[in-house]
Amino acid sequence: MANEINFVNDVTNTIYKTQFPQAIIKFAEFDLSFFMGQAIEFGEKASESGKYPLKESYIIRDLLKKAHPYIAANLSGKYDKIVVDCIIENICRTQEITESSLWNKHISPKTEFDKMIFTRLSEYKCNRAANEWLDIVRLQEYTRNKLNFIFQGTKNIDDAHIKKNYFDLTFSVIARERGCSDKDLGKISSYNKSLLPNSVFMISRMSKEIYKSINTELEDAKLLKTPKFPVDRLHDQISMDIYSYMRRLSPPIDTELGWIRSMFGEIEDTIYKPAGFKPLLDLEFDKILSNNILLKSCARCERYYESSINYDGEFCDIIGADGKTCREHSSDNEEPIPKELDKRCEEIHSLVKRNIGKQIDEHEFKEWEQYLNSMKTNIEKNYATPDELEKFLEYTQRMYSQITDQE
Ligand SMILES: [Zn+2]
Repeated sequence: MANEINFVNDVTNTIYKTQFPQAIIKFAEFDLSFFMGQAIEFGEKASESGKYPLKESYIIRDLLKKAHPYIAANLSGKYDKIVVDCIIENICRTQEITESSLWNKHISPKTEFDKMIFTRLSEYKCNRAANEWLDIVRLQEYTRNKLNFIFQGTKNIDDAHIKKNYFDLTFSVIARERGCSDKDLGKISSYNKSLLPNSVFMISRMSKEIYKSINTELEDAKLLKTPKFPVDRLHDQISMDIYSYMRRLSPPIDTELGWIRSMFGEIEDTIYKPAGFKPLLDLEFDKILSNNILLKSCARCERYYESSINYDGEFCDIIGADGKTCREHSSDNEEPIPKELDKRCEEIHSLVKRNIGKQIDEHEFKEWEQYLNSMKTNIEKNYATPDELEKFLEYTQRMYSQITDQE
């Protein structure tokens, strides 16, 4: 399919797909705070009880599935312990302690929870793992910044190309100055399906057939002696040693091609093996530009959308919470929040404010006020509807009348 990138990971024999530009836009917009809230709550309960119910932690982990196909593909591998990572980050941030002192604190773990924290911190300590939660948060910021850097106010695809190259080269300059090489940063390798590291297992039935046909050639062959740490210069030599066994291979005849094709299944053009999330994100940016997709940020909801030659306005055509797009809203001149409703917001706001110190404390009020404000912004951006605001106001009133009734 067009606008799709195929990729694999180290762990499974599956080919995953990510679509551009949708996956990048979605990742930039994805609300990570819901996962964070759940993980922290889970961590607090686990710390109290000492137990660490794995099944429950996996349900929380899986909330990140929709953030990006790369995260979904690596949930049970690289991101398996992301809930612990989030708990550790939260403890260090709120208690203002370093990972090192947290490690010291848990050095003789007594409970299941302590053990979980200690094991994970030990993995960081000996460089076997990183705090994946922190990395995802930082990668999201990276993606947002790169999107804005390349596309904000950019009028044509050529300008976008220049900005992207400027961004990437700046990264390379810093990497070089800080003494990091390719090996530290992880690259993205591309393969055809048959030359993938796991191809023999991915196309296993066909591989078995091929093995049968070359069996005699390989009968007395010993394992090739490969160096423990192969350097790039030796690759051709090793490859040609392998090739020497298939020199006499003849192509299948026409009548065989039908079943061979069916054994191969879908043959994807290029399959990538990213050593990290960043290389894949960078590739998605490259593909967006090389496919001449120019993204624009909507003047109303600030989301990115694909610009097209048929429309030169500044509003997106993404369907919002009320079933209408910003483009449709821009022509109907309606206020996003009706005047009546806005007035009720004011009234209830001052009512609740008057009750600080009585039915509500300062902290609770601040939280309530923040929720109200973000709901209003969300309606302006069409992430939420006036209906939902109305329900929230009703709920607030009900809550306070209940308290008054009890008195
Ligand atoms: Zn919009």
